[in-house]
Amino acid sequence: MKTVDNFNFKGKKALIRVDFNVPLDGDLKVSDASRIEAAKPTIIKILEDGGSAILMSHLGRPDGKVNAKMSLKHIADKVSEIIGVSVKFAEDCVGEKAETAAANLKSGEILLLENLRFHAEEENGDKAFSEQLSKLGDIYVNDAFGTAHRAHASTTIVADFFPENKCFGYLLAKEIEAIDKVMATGEKPVTAILGGSKVSSKITIIENILDKVDHLIIGGGMTYTFIKAQGGKVGDSICEDDKQELALEILKLAKAKGVQVHIPVDVLAADAFDNNANTKVVPVTDIPDGWQGLDAGPKTLENFKEVILKSKTILWNGPIGVFEMPTFAKGTIAIGNYIDEATKNGAFSLVGGGDSVAAVKQFGFEDKVSYVSTGGGAMLESLEGKTLPGIAAIL
Ligand code: AMP
Repeated sequence: MKTVDNFNFKGKKALIRVDFNVPLDGDLKVSDASRIEAAKPTIIKILEDGGSAILMSHLGRPDGKVNAKMSLKHIADKVSEIIGVSVKFAEDCVGEKAETAAANLKSGEILLLENLRFHAEEENGDKAFSEQLSKLGDIYVNDAFGTAHRAHASTTIVADFFPENKCFGYLLAKEIEAIDKVMATGEKPVTAILGGSKVSSKITIIENILDKVDHLIIGGGMTYTFIKAQGGKVGDSICEDDKQELALEILKLAKAKGVQVHIPVDVLAADAFDNNANTKVVPVTDIPDGWQGLDAGPKTLENFKEVILKSKTILWNGPIGVFEMPTFAKGTIAIGNYIDEATKNGAFSLVGGGDSVAAVKQFGFEDKVSYVSTGGGAMLESLEGKTLPGIAAIL
């Protein structure tokens, strides 16, 4: 895997695809700069080599049209502040303005290009547009995991114009390594914890990881489809009746592959989908009508704890209960604590994909797990076993 460490950027212009799709507040100021911080090591390495950096990104969804509110010039000051170099700005990402600015760029300098998605050609993966982008730099660096699952001009097609001179930035390389540790090279026992609301949205992931894991913990709303399929009474819990057959097939397949599946045995049930509802702990197979399971129960958490603490590699995707409501967040917090403990004991833990990242951040587990993925959709597609076009283009 070629990274920026394989190149000396002295006197070279690096064309870097970053993910600066950051949130802006009402005054169009950056309200969360973590994505800019995340790209810093790659940019610094290039500048310290004696190279210059041309940064390209999208911001928001302008749908191929210029939209002043989504201009990347709003973030230029923040980039300057974080990198410690005054950033120059080009009012377009291709054409004369961009080419002149890039040609005039000196070693140690940074040029930020205008929003790629002001051109429809970006998302269409247009070849001519990609070629125009490619003219700006000598070496192409992809450091944007969040868009690596899209075959866009700047994430994938542009790489064709740098047959030798292309590589991953540190951030993207770290993401690839983290996923690889879980999906290919992880120390056993490997455990996947899958939560969230629906079987249907996780089915491809489940099918793919059955070949990679020793233990599969199923939690969250998915639980009830599995329980009902096996003849349990799930009351008013969320349940996909048309996926019951599939749930049984998954269990059969897991057994055939020697994967141990762990499903809740008790749940915290509520008489309404409400933080202030009446609650009681009941067996997962005997939830009364009018009640719904919204979090894992104490026996379940004990079982899950035992599995997690003996795991050496852990993947966590999806909350174990309705964590947005404090009454039903305890199971998700407990899982975070077990993973924290396992990680302290030497396990590698990866959290990624959608709501699990939100939960991890909300409860302060970010620094306690080995790695939190930055790309929601890209992470999910990786777990589904898909080759991401942005990664394939460099490999
Ligand atoms: P997903 O996007 O599939 O990862 O699902 C995340 C959502 O699942 C979160 O908003 C949780 O509130 C929800 N969720 C987790 N457990 C349950 C449950 N037992 N009943 C309903 N929703 C749940």
